[in-house]
Amino acid sequence: MFYGNNIIMFKQKCPICDSKLEYDIDNLDFYLMEEHYNCPNKDYSYSYEYGMTNITIGNKEFNYTYLDSNVKKALILKEIKLETERLKSLTRLE
Ligand SMILES: [Zn+2]
Repeated sequence: MFYGNNIIMFKQKCPICDSKLEYDIDNLDFYLMEEHYNCPNKDYSYSYEYGMTNITIGNKEFNYTYLDSNVKKALILKEIKLETERLKSLTRLE
């Protein structure tokens, strides 16, 4: 999923097991400072803190900041997508 130049991300359902994500958002004044989404089965998490985005797919962690180039973000997105597909196909085999 893309929104503009941002990679983004799955904020409602886990891309791997389709569970509803648990979330936790902290606001400071009117500015969104932190956002956390976690799969209850622990195979996916997304967090955003102070310009840094962390995404965990299975046991692999990916991160980027708002300072990273779109090229770098696109590469990370591709890795995330591959890892997601890989884990999904493993889940299907079980
Ligand atoms: Zn999951």
